[in-house]
Amino acid sequence: SNTATTPTKVVIKAEEEHNVPIVTRNVLMWFRNDLRIRDNKALYAASMRSKVGGTGNNHFLIALYIISEEEWAEHDEAPVKIDFWMRNLVTLKASLDKLAIPLVVKTARKKTDVVKVVEEVVEGMGVSHVFWSQELMVDERKRDQLVREALMKKHPSIYVEEHEDQLVVPAEDVRTKTGNPYAVFTPFYNTWCKLVETESHYLEITEMPDANPLEAKEVYVEYFKAKPPSSHPHPLDVDEMKRRYPAGEDEAHARLDKFVQEKAKKYHQGRDVPPQDGTSVLSPYLNAGVLSTRQCVAAARIANKNKIQSGDDGLKTWIKELGWREFYRHILVAFPRVCMNRAFQPKTERVQWSDNDEHFQRWTEGKTGFPIVDAGMRQLKATGYMHNRLRMIVACFLVKDLLINWQQGEKYFMNNLIDGDLASNNGGWQWSASTGTDSQPYFRVFNPLLQSQRYDPKGEYIRRWVPELKLLTDKQIHDPSQALSPKDFAKLGYPKPIVEHAKAKARYLEEFKRALGLS
Ligand code: FAD
Repeated sequence: SNTATTPTKVVIKAEEEHNVPIVTRNVLMWFRNDLRIRDNKALYAASMRSKVGGTGNNHFLIALYIISEEEWAEHDEAPVKIDFWMRNLVTLKASLDKLAIPLVVKTARKKTDVVKVVEEVVEGMGVSHVFWSQELMVDERKRDQLVREALMKKHPSIYVEEHEDQLVVPAEDVRTKTGNPYAVFTPFYNTWCKLVETESHYLEITEMPDANPLEAKEVYVEYFKAKPPSSHPHPLDVDEMKRRYPAGEDEAHARLDKFVQEKAKKYHQGRDVPPQDGTSVLSPYLNAGVLSTRQCVAAARIANKNKIQSGDDGLKTWIKELGWREFYRHILVAFPRVCMNRAFQPKTERVQWSDNDEHFQRWTEGKTGFPIVDAGMRQLKATGYMHNRLRMIVACFLVKDLLINWQQGEKYFMNNLIDGDLASNNGGWQWSASTGTDSQPYFRVFNPLLQSQRYDPKGEYIRRWVPELKLLTDKQIHDPSQALSPKDFAKLGYPKPIVEHAKAKARYLEEFKRALGLS
């Protein structure tokens, strides 16, 4: 399915509508959260544009990346995630080098400087066309609008083109019969699948960009020689992070292929068993844009004999999880307020949350005295990643056992996840907290003990992350303060449960019912 889309035509047509004639000079591709050269619509379009209207030798394709620490801090990006971006920038640069495309890396000291930085590059490097992939978040959209306006105002002959490439199916294509966006997953997914199954262009993989004429290597020698930052300070073990999540598109594709060939067929059985590592762990790559969702769905579809919603149980379940990723992005586009500190269900904003800082601290440290919760939180602290089942368990625990505002948990996750993603993280939190679009109903409260016995029956996952409990039996490990004598329990050096689940659940239900007007 390596058929090219034909963005060149689109570019030229749109340009014809431009009221000021454009003289082709250099073409700029501004990379943001799409750190890949394969299946990158904006990059391909930029590459094709750089070939049009000249001999090919007097204008080049130039790539830009802007380091913008203030923006990242405002968005709670985890240091380990920024480090992953920087490592991927190195591999991206190596790929671009091979195509004689210079990568210009600039720093914006303040977030408002981004506009200036783009302007300077455009002016300093003789750019006539600017391309980028659309970002879906409100702040980023505003920023892009400012950049576009500033460029067009100062240089009416500059052409800016944004490509919609974050979604497999664009937001406006997935609509209810009455033309509205979906707010519930299942009908959304049914429509999405029908579109993807019947209209092959959604899964067409965009071609690789062409190489620049070799002369670019001489003209821009300083950029080919430059060594942009290859890391970012973070509190985790640097070598361990490199080992767990090696950077680069080749790595991402190797993982994708291996997963689809070897593990995906058992995914429906293994995905909910935390000690089994039955999932793909592709989320860091997807969220840095090293891999596109489209590439994942396309690969799984081929392995599933061209089926999306039927066929192999494992493959179709995996595609459905990618469907959740799509769903939350569509929600972000249709209801941006959900990611602006608002609950999707406004009534739930009346909940009076606990401000028990000690409880929150204990939760972050993995010292709640609930082994399965602590194991999840410690996996996050040690690796920047947490298994999906655990994300649900620890989120439900924070909100329903500790009655702490889900937004505190959402922020803590973003600050620590290597795969932090505004849409999926917000969706996951609001689902767990029963405040979201298609959430679990408020009266469903996970019992941490039962979750532990069900999803980690032998305590293998707990043993991996909570070494104090390593020597306990499969039975004891789920609830050691009850299973052992007080003397033996004290020897473990492991905390007692910080709340009593039954009481905590009652307190939560009472408060939620009050907030929802049900009591
Ligand atoms: P796989 O099981 O191999 O799934 C493949 C891909 O499908 C994932 O990489 C992911 O992109 C997507 N996916 C799978 N499950 C979900 C889901 N429930 N919602 C949305 N997309 C999904 N995912 C993030 O990418 N970033 C986050 O910040 C994030 N925060 C979360 C917070 C909470 C409270 C919860 C409950 C879930 C969150 N998720 C988040 C969703 C999910 O936990 C991760 O995507 C998944 O664990 C990543 O592991 P994987 O790549 O092995 O997934």
